[in-house]
Amino acid sequence: MTAYSLLILPGDGIGPEVMAEVRKVIDWFQANRGMQFDVSEDLVGGAAYDAHGTPLTDATMARAQAVDAVLLGAVGGPAYDNLDFSVKPERGLLRLRKEMDLFANLRPAQCFDALADFSSLKREVVAGLDILIVRELTSGVYFGTPRGIQADDNPDNEGGRVGINTQRYTSGEIRRVARAAFELARKRSSRVCSMEKANVMESGILWREEVQWVHDHEYPDVELTHMYADNGAMQLVRRPQQFDVIVTDNLFGDILSDAAAMLTGSLGMLPSASLGAPAANGRPKAMYEPVHGSAPDIAGKALANPIACILSFAMALRYSWNEGAAADDLERAVETVLAQGVRTADLMGPEGGTPITTSEMGDRIVAALAAA
Ligand code: NAD
Repeated sequence: MTAYSLLILPGDGIGPEVMAEVRKVIDWFQANRGMQFDVSEDLVGGAAYDAHGTPLTDATMARAQAVDAVLLGAVGGPAYDNLDFSVKPERGLLRLRKEMDLFANLRPAQCFDALADFSSLKREVVAGLDILIVRELTSGVYFGTPRGIQADDNPDNEGGRVGINTQRYTSGEIRRVARAAFELARKRSSRVCSMEKANVMESGILWREEVQWVHDHEYPDVELTHMYADNGAMQLVRRPQQFDVIVTDNLFGDILSDAAAMLTGSLGMLPSASLGAPAANGRPKAMYEPVHGSAPDIAGKALANPIACILSFAMALRYSWNEGAAADDLERAVETVLAQGVRTADLMGPEGGTPITTSEMGDRIVAALAAA
């Protein structure tokens, strides 16, 4: 049996702390489920800068390109805030995303029943919520040219400057992210809602037509609907349960995925994946990471919630290795532990209680896996 190759990049702050708990989960699956992982570890972000003067060395980049999946903790921290832009910790992350061409960003918004009261919305609106936002990550208005701030000699323009960004999408860019969304939908409830602003943007008209084209020619079995992104934002907070997979562009996806994240409560609970094109072995280039940052305010205090990183590993099981049943088991173990009232400090409600440490949370999740 070929081992699943995984490169772990713990990074900075709480990154190494939460990653230590993922290691326990990996060890459990190796010992109990006959899976074999070829795990290597390297530096990224501030940790790489301290050791090598760069947030990501060429050697680490090459290792990332060679493995099935990269699992990243978090990067950054106050010690690096004043570094030159070119060597800031975030540059390591951006280089990974760019050189691996990770064009589809997956942000699940899943509400565990035990945490439904953490949402800013009513329990009945969010309980059992399970949606997946697929955001195009490598094109659109964040990358299009021309861009910049220029002088403007129009005498009617008080201040005399103009700021320019360009929303630009090729049909190929739209089709490949649409395919990713349809493939994912087939592994879930087979429903995709595509969001754009075709009423006011030509790039939105192209988006709608190309997503429809991919659907009609390649995925007629999946249900496809279209929605204007502003209505989508309203529907997300009004009746989020109506969605399964949402596919949208870089800008709208940035905003909608953050709004959806808050439906579920704590930052310490949110995983993500960024996928590229499938390689020869059928596995997509892939990087998995919790949504949260390096949380310098709690680093080194055993307060970090490792669940976001553990759920990111569950996404790797599902999307890189097609181990859907193992991913389900891991997610269920998290749910079980939460239902038992076990909480890290970030999940303490107004009723209080005694929070457990990062390491205890990892142990409890492994114990729940074993007991299932
Ligand atoms: P942050 O996500 O690190 O923290 C925001 C708040 O949430 C903090 O109060 C923190 O204690 C809390 N928090 C975050 N993750 C948690 C967890 N797992 N368990 C419990 N509490 C948690 O965001 P920030 O404070 O804005 O940024 C801190 C540093 O992280 C900065 O250097 C920033 O650039 C970097 N950052 C990195 C990433 C990334 O690596 N992907 C993402 C966001 C921010």
